[in-house]
Amino acid sequence: MLVAVLGGGQLGRMLGLAGIPLGLRFRFLDPSPEAPAAAVGELVVGGFDDPGALEGVARGAEVVTYEFENVPGAPVRGLAERVPVLPPPGALEAAQDRLAEKRLFERLGIPVAPYAPVDGGADLPGAIEAVGLPAVLKTRRLGYDGKGQAVLRVAADAPRAWEAVGGAPSILEALVAFDRELSVLAVRGRDGEVRVYPPVENVHREGILRISRAPAPGLGGAIREAASSYAHRVLEDLGYVGLLAIELFEAGGVLLANEIAPRVHNSGHWTIEGAATSQFENHLRAVVGLPLGGTEARGHAAMVNLIGRVPDPSRLLAVPGAHLHLYGKAPR
Ligand code: AMP
Repeated sequence: MLVAVLGGGQLGRMLGLAGIPLGLRFRFLDPSPEAPAAAVGELVVGGFDDPGALEGVARGAEVVTYEFENVPGAPVRGLAERVPVLPPPGALEAAQDRLAEKRLFERLGIPVAPYAPVDGGADLPGAIEAVGLPAVLKTRRLGYDGKGQAVLRVAADAPRAWEAVGGAPSILEALVAFDRELSVLAVRGRDGEVRVYPPVENVHREGILRISRAPAPGLGGAIREAASSYAHRVLEDLGYVGLLAIELFEAGGVLLANEIAPRVHNSGHWTIEGAATSQFENHLRAVVGLPLGGTEARGHAAMVNLIGRVPDPSRLLAVPGAHLHLYGKAPR
């Protein structure tokens, strides 16, 4: 059975590594001929909006999925007329627009930080009034890993922030003095079965995930229940099939949703060795219509993201219980 994947980054590679034992074959679409997923499947080099490349990657595939959420919505909807695209394109579109995402959370009764839309520079003073300061201005589209964001501490920061987001349609969000960041990963099968992984504690630096601890240490029962309930609501509302991540802030015993990722997630790498079934395997089981696997943790796990120079593998692997996942991306 052939699975087509839009995006050939490390997440695609890890999907391939999880799917090969299930007898799945993979074909990836990526703009880069150096895409890390080429090691585990066929690679079509092309843009995500190139009709020929999309046709080429989907030909003969049982299902099309994606490992990168900024693939443009319209061509994906076109593909979905001919071959199942899972998670459904509506989930991709909701995650691509921060305003749509916030409204989705609100509609589902999931708390979010105070926010206001900023369509043009003239909206900014009113948004500051509504949201208060400090706040963070984020572009509605194409923002990830803290890019397309600017923090405002005083009203005089407004022009600089507006310039930093390139004058693009944005939202202004109250800066949350969170106690910690969490994420919850959950998977929904084609038959509607939902399984939720234990929430993870995440540490970001410069907008990039550095460390995850799973299950999140010292998590209160109410917070765990809320995370699971939010995941159920989002999965069911979107008619979702596959793995979904919700990034959350824990602040004073309250859980606020920040954003969703309609794909396997960096904060779920621990599930490869640390959970009954990895997020990658469960995503694939879901999209091809196989029964889901257990999501319980086998014990305690932590993930450290190695950025830039990779330390000597023989030293890393001398740590008892440590596993190394290199994916062959050139340092930038
Ligand atoms: P995002 O692109 O929304 O995931 O933001 C990247 C990171 O910036 C988050 O993981 C947080 O560490 C931080 N951040 C984003 N939004 C807020 C906020 N409203 N309050 C505090 N920190 C934030």
